[in-house]
Amino acid sequence: MPSACLIKVRGVVQGVGFRPFVYRVARELHLCGWVLNGEQGVEIHLEGPEPALEEFQRLLTTGAPPASRITAVEVQGADVLGLQEFVIKASERNERPTVRISPDLPVCDNCLRELKDSTNRRFEYPYINCTHCGPRYTVILALPYDRPNTTMKAWPFDEYCDREYHDPANRRFHAQPNACWECGPQLALWDASGAQIETQDPVAEAARRIALGEVGAVKGLGGFHLAVDAANADAVALLRERKRRVEKPFAVMVPDIATAAQLCEVDALARQALLSRQRPIVLLPKRDNTFIADAVAPGQRDLGLFLPYTPLHHLLFAAGEFRALVMTSANLSEEPIAIDNHEAVHRLAEVADFFLVHNREILLRCDDSVVRPAAGRVRQVRRSRGFVPEPVQLHKEVPPVLAAGGELKNTICLARGPFAFLSQHVGDLENAESFDFFEEAVEHLSKVLEIEPSIIAHDLHPDYFSTKWALAQEGVRRIGVQHHHAHIASCMAENHLDEKVIGIALDGTGYGTDGHIWGGEVLLADYSGFERAAHLAYVPMPGGAAAIREPWRMAVSYLAQTFGPALFEQGIPFVGELGWRRAATTLQMMDRRLNSPLTSSCGRLFDAVAALVGMRTTVNYEAQAAMELESAARRAPPGAGAYPLALERSDGCWQIGAGPLFDAIAGDLRRAAPVGIISRRFHNALVAIFVCVARSVRDESALNRVCLSGGTFQNAYLLDNMIRGLEHEGFEVFTHAEVPAGDGGLSLGQAMIAAHAAAP
Ligand code: ZN
Ligand code: FE
Repeated sequence: MPSACLIKVRGVVQGVGFRPFVYRVARELHLCGWVLNGEQGVEIHLEGPEPALEEFQRLLTTGAPPASRITAVEVQGADVLGLQEFVIKASERNERPTVRISPDLPVCDNCLRELKDSTNRRFEYPYINCTHCGPRYTVILALPYDRPNTTMKAWPFDEYCDREYHDPANRRFHAQPNACWECGPQLALWDASGAQIETQDPVAEAARRIALGEVGAVKGLGGFHLAVDAANADAVALLRERKRRVEKPFAVMVPDIATAAQLCEVDALARQALLSRQRPIVLLPKRDNTFIADAVAPGQRDLGLFLPYTPLHHLLFAAGEFRALVMTSANLSEEPIAIDNHEAVHRLAEVADFFLVHNREILLRCDDSVVRPAAGRVRQVRRSRGFVPEPVQLHKEVPPVLAAGGELKNTICLARGPFAFLSQHVGDLENAESFDFFEEAVEHLSKVLEIEPSIIAHDLHPDYFSTKWALAQEGVRRIGVQHHHAHIASCMAENHLDEKVIGIALDGTGYGTDGHIWGGEVLLADYSGFERAAHLAYVPMPGGAAAIREPWRMAVSYLAQTFGPALFEQGIPFVGELGWRRAATTLQMMDRRLNSPLTSSCGRLFDAVAALVGMRTTVNYEAQAAMELESAARRAPPGAGAYPLALERSDGCWQIGAGPLFDAIAGDLRRAAPVGIISRRFHNALVAIFVCVARSVRDESALNRVCLSGGTFQNAYLLDNMIRGLEHEGFEVFTHAEVPAGDGGLSLGQAMIAAHAAAP
């Protein structure tokens, strides 16, 4: 006696080979019925013997396609219709964002095998893909995810691809970007002026040129990469000079895990991250004496490694005489990544020696993602390609809101129902070039998710581009959110917390409610508001923004706070090297309160320490001084102890004074203590003082949950030790992993706070 059931599957089940998978399993089990893309996801009607129905349900979850993500399976009884076969029914047209779009996927093993098989139709075809792999988010123009709504619409199928596309038993059934040599996009090689280079094999020629030390611009999924041989010191130096990128580390693509393990310490967690379907750049501890040129990541303990993810990457490695490639976003300094062929030639003519291009348009910029294993988990540093538009699952439903994010490392966030969708990395909105990208990101994400926000959340900083943009939008409610409150709310959201927490938010810059620059904050916070419980004591930032680029200014500021005019008599080498005149001018500037805003920033404290120990007086990229201090601390032997810091109560708030810290560092410098030891003691001091503050706050508030957020927690040494220190005192500690602790995760917190204000 046959029975019947209706199964509804939700999650990422569209564009990932889900229906063909269902079709295959149903046929194998001799079940009849149908599958379709319904309003809520995939719907399946099944008829057959009860044991086969049960087996089907088991296989549904255990054997689902690798790229799919099932969030819920709902089974209900149904009437037996007496069907005679199993079919795939046409899509219903009213698909909603509950049918979610997949992020871009790395080329799968089956396609790789065909790519290398000289008898295959798609032998060495750089755009080979199937329902399990290939571009998704970056090629979708609109919903539903069908070929005419993708950037592949310009390439009608030939007969062969068309047959595959319509055959439910084929692994390219409904593979929207399906293509082959006959009908799909083609590669071409251009010289620096954009003129075509005559060659039979553009990939082999490009690989040959890279091996000779040239700088190549290679068109990828979400933009162009600049590629050079990572072992060639001259080529890396040339790239740095032309790209005007002085010291900021480059990421390195390696052909396989074995090469990764040669270059860095790759443990189980790192391996998992490298091989994950998002194929992010993974920051890993560098080994000594590798073949990688030193200029790839100067002064850093870590190196960013990633594995090939497009067929073209695999072809380049197969064709080229190099063991690893520097692959960096093709832009000048902090501009957005280039995506259009002619735009790329125009902007990069002075940077690249040649261009490996294809004629498929890139709809959307999408940088590579960056993660870092720290304190036992893989943590997001830059959440972009491969992760977007995968949502962050929320613990409660929210109304449609858009959050505009911060200024640096900007992302936007669209939330609705139980999901928050963060955009790809938009970048630094200090650059006019990023403005268009910001607007594109908002427009595209709202379109493909079909979310029309009624509320827009923004930072309180009046001069941020994202704030001005938000305030210029009409017909919506606008809600300003304090920067560090947003950081803590972001950490709460990703950890599904709803009740008040002790939030420790440490970062470089965030506009405070008192108009000062905050960044070393302990907040009592929930989504409805916050109280400031403690902060680093204010110090002047002589020169304002110049103090961010020139850490020596912060060192002078802290030394003046600590020693007053006696700072010249401390025998501190830094002061001598700085010169009396420069120090005196800076002191005067602060005395007269000229261009010297007050700050409680933790990032600036790191800067001051880095300058004082002689590590660097100026920086070339954001957080460089802090990253180098961290590297030094991690290299130093354990058991260094901690410097003292002062704790004082004023204005109903704990103030953390750095005087004793600088006094102690000055002493260590006179004794010529190694920088690594000083750095370790400094890190340990921060841990000790914030644990101490958390205990006091717990005594007053009876709260025991601590959230750690802000860019400073991308420091693995600090994060690891802060978690240990707090847990040792019995705190429940919550941290970021799914979204960045830095400003890339800010928009999530803004969205949650604004959603709460609208519907508490
Ligand atoms: Zn494939
Ligand atoms: Fe921040």
